[in-house]
Amino acid sequence: MNVNMCGKKTSVVGSDGFQRMNFLYQASVVMLNAVPSCSSLSSFYGTNMVSIGKKLQLKLDPSLKRTMCKGCKSLLIPGKTAVIKIQKPLISKKKKKRQKNYNKIQVWKCLLCKCVKTYILKPDYVLWSEHPMPST
Ligand SMILES: [Zn+2]
Repeated sequence: MNVNMCGKKTSVVGSDGFQRMNFLYQASVVMLNAVPSCSSLSSFYGTNMVSIGKKLQLKLDPSLKRTMCKGCKSLLIPGKTAVIKIQKPLISKKKKKRQKNYNKIQVWKCLLCKCVKTYILKPDYVLWSEHPMPST
């Protein structure tokens, strides 16, 4: 429960679920830093966090979601649990002739389950959650 400016208690929908997910994410980070050799523990906490989010229909913040593996749900830390490569995009020859200006791809590969995540690198791309709020 939160208290607003008038002193009344207000409740955010799913705040318990968000607190549990936040705790599990932090536990995942702490365990990965404390015991780097046992990254399956991080995967366990990540799987629990995702299952809580699914059950309560809560969305993970995109910035947090980008730090997790799609396959095993462990944290992706460059050099520790993930390898990052920047590649040219796979485009057919016909399309390449038409479109000369294409963006490179950032590939994150999980070292635990070998799952791959790709992001297109656009210089002026901003996540929808990071867009500035429209002024009214
Ligand atoms: Zn993985």
